[in-house]
Amino acid sequence: MEKPNFRTELLRTLEGKTPARIPAGIFTTAPIIELMDLSGAARPEADNQPEKMAVLAFSQYVNASFETVRYPFDMVVLAEALGCAVDPGTKVKLPAVLRGSMEISPSVPELPEDMLERGRIPAVLQATEILREKAGSHLPLIAGMESPAELAASICGITHFLKWTIKRPHIVRRLIDFCTDACIIYARECLKRGADVVVFVDAISSPNMISPDTFRSLVKPGLERVPKALSGGKSVLHICGAADSIIYDIAACGFDGLSLEGGTKNLKTASRFAHESGAALIGNIPTSGTLFRGSPEDVKKEALTYLESGIDVLAPGCGLAPKTPLKNLKALVEARNEFCERKR
Ligand SMILES: [Zn+2]
Repeated sequence: MEKPNFRTELLRTLEGKTPARIPAGIFTTAPIIELMDLSGAARPEADNQPEKMAVLAFSQYVNASFETVRYPFDMVVLAEALGCAVDPGTKVKLPAVLRGSMEISPSVPELPEDMLERGRIPAVLQATEILREKAGSHLPLIAGMESPAELAASICGITHFLKWTIKRPHIVRRLIDFCTDACIIYARECLKRGADVVVFVDAISSPNMISPDTFRSLVKPGLERVPKALSGGKSVLHICGAADSIIYDIAACGFDGLSLEGGTKNLKTASRFAHESGAALIGNIPTSGTLFRGSPEDVKKEALTYLESGIDVLAPGCGLAPKTPLKNLKALVEARNEFCERKR
């Protein structure tokens, strides 16, 4: 049987249409150790060398049977380009911000004209072109980056960010506005070079980190600007933690998809709000409890409950732990196959 066109299927899903089969893939960080070993491309090289980044990204399709090609593999590419000091990480440790640019020099930074030539941005853009060539029109390319609030927290430091949302909201507002501009410029370039979807990853906006009121007054205005600025390019928002208390607000931001974690309690309500706003619901198999520690049977069982609850794209709920077993990723795809087979 001819394989379905995974790119068309995913784009149709993000347009609110019914695909032939529910897509199965990943919108968060994917490179587990087994994929690095099988592909011969490992971090930290795959975090900054375009060829290796492309090989490791493509192994999600080749070795895990995922129907998405998601890259790069960390959340600090823009932060690094905007002057944050970054620890490059190791095979099992993601690149991470050591010191925000506002902790080095205290004023809200200005957008550098050469931003797209800074840090690892050229490597990501080059990897996009290599992957477009490799994937042709058959597989969707998902470029990931930090959301405006996540970038803001990197720039001023998480502790400052959380404190300032209460004591100096005017600075947070200005900083998020600046970060929104940076995200839009970078996202447009990713789409221009061949990415099909840009996913904005946001851990700091989780209700576990800031209150829903703070989200609405300080973070939401920036997020609302993003999808509109991408001129039809597809965009997805990933929120970490239990997003129930802000689900209505994130659905209203205008993204084509919402990627949520397993901690989200009421998936049916999330699905209803998402669909009413024209967004697909993506997720949300728990990464530590099920994908990392569970068996393939656990993954399948859990996946079926999410599929029954109305998920539109079956995917891990967040970034994968490096030691997540590959057989559990394959079980995710098998669960989708069995579910769709039963529905026929
Ligand atoms: Zn997450």
